[in-house]
Amino acid sequence: MPAERLTVVIAAYNEAASLPLLHPRLRAVLDALDGIEGRILYVDDGSSDATWAVLQALAAADPAVGVLRLSRNFGKEAALTAGLDFVESGAVMILDADGQDPPELIPEFVALWRQGYDNVYGTRRVRDGEGWLKRSTAAMFYRVIGRLSKTPIPADTGDFRLLSPRALQALGQLRERHRFMKGLFGWVGFRRVALPYHRHARMAGHSQFGLWRLWNFALEGITGFSTAPLRVTTYLGLATAGFAFLFALWVVGKAALYGDRVAGWPTMMVVILFLGGVQLIALGLIGEYLGRLYEESKQRPLYLVDTWQAPFVADSGVH
Ligand code: UDP
Ligand code: MG
Repeated sequence: MPAERLTVVIAAYNEAASLPLLHPRLRAVLDALDGIEGRILYVDDGSSDATWAVLQALAAADPAVGVLRLSRNFGKEAALTAGLDFVESGAVMILDADGQDPPELIPEFVALWRQGYDNVYGTRRVRDGEGWLKRSTAAMFYRVIGRLSKTPIPADTGDFRLLSPRALQALGQLRERHRFMKGLFGWVGFRRVALPYHRHARMAGHSQFGLWRLWNFALEGITGFSTAPLRVTTYLGLATAGFAFLFALWVVGKAALYGDRVAGWPTMMVVILFLGGVQLIALGLIGEYLGRLYEESKQRPLYLVDTWQAPFVADSGVH
């Protein structure tokens, strides 16, 4: 049976402490895989620490390792996209550099892939090392996006997943700038299956995703995969107009019955402020989508490459 190729793609931003711990674990797992030609592709997402030096040392010692360095920090989604773009053939496995996604599970992903699944995604059963705030906001986010998005976005699912060659090829066609990978994976479709796993705490370093960054990430997901907020503003406008109409009837009726004594300064203020607020919210929402449209229209590349060092292993013609 000819070997199939599996490339593990890892985006790393300031992970000099984690990578030397992760690599041997990954190497051991890949070596033990039967009938699979394992490769590893590290993407240095413009790190400011020793990550690049560490990666070069790993690549020098292991011919199956390819390293890609971006010209600056483009963010995880862009770094992953870059990594996936540089995989020429075979399936890919996406992994975090910090060891939160245990590489020891790769054989289970591969087993499901061999059963014919194209998109095997890890679903977090337990999250170690994450506070209640992160957990509860994450839970809320998945509920909201699950409601709003037409594309299925499975809950508690990160980027830890295996993509078959055709799923990878399909994903490569989605070139939008605002990349919400969880949604893009779902949009591609094909045969999907969840693989529940225990998400560990980071081995070293600290998370790049604070609450503010997560909030922006959530906005990205919602605006990228749903226009429901725009529709909500329409209903909000309709409801306000309906309310204003009833209020007008009441005001006119009252004036006709009891005369108008020019009272009502408080009601006036309330109505003006309320309407002003609603209008600003609606404008902001439109601006949110318009801004994305603007960035999309610039057609800039998703990332720029500083250095690409392909794996040294001779191409065996495996696909
Ligand atoms: N990462 C990246 N670019 C960034 C931020 C993060 O490539 O700008 C990588 C990081 O090195 C790690 C993965 O994305 O491999 C997940 O990041 P992190 O652990 O900070 O996120 P969390 O696990 O807390 O969601
Ligand atoms: Mg992490």
